[in-house]
Amino acid sequence: MTENRSLVLVINCGSSSLKFALFPAGDQTPLMSGLAECLGETDARITAKIDGDKKTESLNGEGHAAALDVLLRVLAEHGWLAGVKAVGHRMVHGGEAFKASVVVNEKILSEIEAHNHLAPLHNPANLLGIRTAIAKMPTIPQVVVFDTAFHQTMPASAYLYALPMEYYREQGVRRYGFHGTSHRFVAEEAVSLLKLKPADHGIVIAHLGNGGSATAVLNGKSVDTTMGLTPLEGLVMGTRSGDVDPGAVVHLARAYGWDVNQIDTVLNKKSGLLGISELSNDMRTIESAAAEGHDGAQKALDVFVHRLARHIGGLATSLPRLDAVVFTGGIGENSSLVRKMTIERLKVFGIVLDDAANEATIRGKAGVISKGAGPVAAVIPTNEEWMIARDAGELAGLGGSKGAARA
Ligand code: AMP
Repeated sequence: MTENRSLVLVINCGSSSLKFALFPAGDQTPLMSGLAECLGETDARITAKIDGDKKTESLNGEGHAAALDVLLRVLAEHGWLAGVKAVGHRMVHGGEAFKASVVVNEKILSEIEAHNHLAPLHNPANLLGIRTAIAKMPTIPQVVVFDTAFHQTMPASAYLYALPMEYYREQGVRRYGFHGTSHRFVAEEAVSLLKLKPADHGIVIAHLGNGGSATAVLNGKSVDTTMGLTPLEGLVMGTRSGDVDPGAVVHLARAYGWDVNQIDTVLNKKSGLLGISELSNDMRTIESAAAEGHDGAQKALDVFVHRLARHIGGLATSLPRLDAVVFTGGIGENSSLVRKMTIERLKVFGIVLDDAANEATIRGKAGVISKGAGPVAAVIPTNEEWMIARDAGELAGLGGSKGAARA
C-alpha cells in the first residue's frame, strides 16, 4: 500500500553502525526503526523493526552504502520510498558555527568538515552517512541536526575554560555540551507537562543514559551544561570518568608512561560505572549487584548519584529560580532507585519525592514524581530521533510538522 503522507527518514551514522527511523511528518511515532551494525566486518547485518516485528539480514561484510541500499529496498517494499521528502542526519559536533539545524549543501559540508578535529571519532562517521545518503537520494533535502547546537546559547562565563585564551582562539577549546537534541526535546515537553510559563521558567534536565549530561534551561534556552569540549566532562557515565582532576591524569601518565591514546582509552572506555564497580557499565547490573551486597557496585552507584546531585545543584546557580528537575535517558526514565537517591540529596531545594509516583513512572511513562510546594521532580522520556525528523521536516518545508508537534 502506498503511503500518502510525507515521510522523513532519520539517519544516525557511526563509524561501524547506522541507526535509522522513519516518521510521517508531524507524527512522533515511527513507522519503522532499526540498526545496521558491524559495518565492514564479516558479520555486518541490518535489523529493521516494523509494527513490533524485527527482521535481520546479513550485509555480507559490506559497509554503509550497502546498508543504505537495503534500507531503501525495504522502504520501497512497504510503499514508503516515494513518500520520503526529507532526510535528517545526526551530527555530533557543529562547533560555534552551527546554532541550529541546516539543509546540507557542499558549502555546509565543508564547514562541518572543518570541525572534524573537535570530534575526530564521530563527525567523520556522521559525514559519511550524509554523503552516502546524498549519493543514493540526490533529489531529497538532507538536513543536519547538531548535538551541540542547543547549547550555543550558553554565556561565555559557562563555556570558557580557565586556560590560556590562545587555545580557545586557535583550537576552539571551550565547553560545547552534547545531547542537545534530547535536552531541547525534553525542555519543550516539560513546558507543556508541567504547565510552565514559556518565557518565565528555570529547570535542570538530567539525561542519564550510557552517556550522561545535565543542563540548566532558562526559558527554553540552555545556559549551562555538564559536558565540555568533548562528551567526557561532567557526570559519571557507563565507561566515561566525567570530571577528574586533570592533575590526576598528568600524574598517571607520568607514573605509567602513558601516551595520549592510552589516556583517552582509560578515561573514555575503562572508567565510570565500569571503572569503579570493576563489574559493569550497565546500571541495571550495578543496581542488582549492589542490592546483593557487591561493594564495588554500591560505590559506583554512590559516586554516580553524588556527582549527579552536585551537578544539579551547581547548574541551578545559573537559574533565577529552580522550577523543576527532569529525568530522561535509559537510567533517568527507568531507575526509580537513582532518582530516589538523587532527590534525597536535593533536600536543600525543598524537593520532596512521591515514592509511589516514582516507582510507577518507568518504561516510557512521563509524569511528576514529587509532592509538596517545592520544585517539581519529573520524568520525561526523550525522543531524539523525532526531534531530528521534526527539524528535517520543517526545513524541507513539509507542512504541519511543527504545529503538530506543539499542538
Ligand atoms: P541509554 O543509553 O539511554 O539507552 O541508557 C542505557 C542505560 O540505561 C544503561 O545503563 C541501562 O542499564 C540503563 N537502564 C535501562 N533500563 C534500566 C532499568 N530498568 N533500571 C536501571 N537502569 C536501566
